Parts: sequence; C-alpha cells; structure tokens
Amino acid sequence: MYTWVIMSYKKMNLQIISIVFIIATLAIAFISIFYAISTGERGLSLQQLRELMVKKQIEARGVTDQRVLQAMLKVERHKFVPELSLSSAYEDHPLPIGYGQTISQPYIVALMTELCELDGTEKVLEIGTGSGYQAAILSLLAKEVYTIEIIEPLGKQAALRLKSLGYNNVTVKIGDGYKGWPEHSPFDVIILTAAPPTIPDALLNQLSEDGGILVAPVGDYNQELIKMVRHGNTYSQKVITYVRFVPMVPGKE
Ligand code: SAH
Repeated sequence: MYTWVIMSYKKMNLQIISIVFIIATLAIAFISIFYAISTGERGLSLQQLRELMVKKQIEARGVTDQRVLQAMLKVERHKFVPELSLSSAYEDHPLPIGYGQTISQPYIVALMTELCELDGTEKVLEIGTGSGYQAAILSLLAKEVYTIEIIEPLGKQAALRLKSLGYNNVTVKIGDGYKGWPEHSPFDVIILTAAPPTIPDALLNQLSEDGGILVAPVGDYNQELIKMVRHGNTYSQKVITYVRFVPMVPGKE
C-alpha cells in the first residue's frame, strides 16, 4: 500500500513536470513567432529593414535626393501590403496587393518620386492609388496629393489606410484616371503608376504650363519610363529606363 502511494506520487510529479515542460516549450515557440513577425525575417527591426532597403536598393542605384530617401525611410511600407507579405515588405521586388494589382518595387517608387522634383509646394496628381504607398511617399514631399483608383475596393481601402496613418493631405477618388481630375487642375506634377499605351490628352492638358512634370510608364508589354516637362504648349520628353507596370485600363463610360 505504502509503495503504491509513493509510486503514484512519483507518477504525479512526473506528469506535472511534463505539463510544465510542454507549457514552457509552447511559450518559447509563441514568443519566437511573435518576435520573428515583429522584427522581420533576419531578426532586424522593421526600421532597420527600411534603412537597409534605402541603402542597398535605392541609394546604391543612384537615387540621391535626400528628401526622397528620408520619406522612404519614414513610410511604413509593411502597413501597405497584405499581412502575408509582411516579412517581404522591404524586399527588392513588387508585391501583390489583391485584384491582380501590385505595389511597385521600392527602388522604382523612389526613382519616380525623385523624377518629380518635389520641394513641398506642389499639387500632385497620381493615377493608380493601389495600396496608397506611393501616395503616402508623395504626401510627405508635396503640399497636396490627389490620387485616382479605378478598382473601388482598392481605392476605399487605401483611403481608409492613408487616413488612419495620418496622411491628411491626400485625397482619393474612385474613377478613371484617363480623365484626370479637371476640378483640381492644373497640377505641378502628374505621376502614373499604371501604364497607358500613350499619355492621355486629358492628363497633358491638366499639367501646369509653367514647368509641370509628368512621370509615367508608357507602352504595352515593353514599357518606357518617361519624364515629360511642359512649358506653355511645348512638352519635352526623356526616356529614363525600361519598366514593367500593370496596364492602365480604360474606364467604362
Ligand atoms: N501606386 C500604387 C501601385 C499601383 S498598381 C501603390 O503605391 O500601391 C496600379 C494601379 O492602377 C492599380 O491599383 C490599378 O487598379 C490602377 N489603375 C489601372 N487603370 C486605372 C485607371 N484607368 N484609372 C485609375 N487607376 C487605374
């Protein structure tokens, strides 16, 4: 009888130890997963991942505008991508944002923003709001940003996101970018983040006559990233590089 009591006592102790061991293991696993999510894949903080992104992907490829680099450091790109892409938010490639659309590679966002030559006084029109990331970058560098998105749920989501993150000088409209936004024109800068086959006339007309800058991918499959400058009725155009953007789809009448 006595031996049986000791044995079951020992057995109970063993059970308690096993339960404590399992709980401890689970706790360690949860803490590690939480740490991995909050600090990114390589054990770096999200701020550190942004610093690396700016240094290795953007500065290293020749973007020098300090205001642009600062904006790229500041805007939390991971808040603009689906949660599954969280750890890849700072990697050197475009990412899906739903509805068959993508958020551009960080370098392309920085390059296009640099081409806009913003000093903080401009009224900017963006075509293709998508996630709102490019609009957030522009919002830190210009006075006012107007952005048009043709896919309603994407536009609505971006508008909410921008508002909740405090980008208060951005106005989102659901509509067809081919028409521009005549009520707010002329724009000092127009930036397209979807590619039309040729630059729409409405956008050319809504560009400021006094040195207005338009930056856009143009073409079907092989696209050129162009920068256009308007003086009066003269538009001068330069090809910057070759790019691959989603097409700018014609809106339904
Ligand atoms: N600038 C975005 C990425 C743009 S992806 C970001 O930072 O996340 C291109 C976007 O252009 C898509 O969301 C697509 O729906 C939108 N688009 C395509 N054709 C359009 C049109 N005619 N007018 C407005 N938006 C358009």
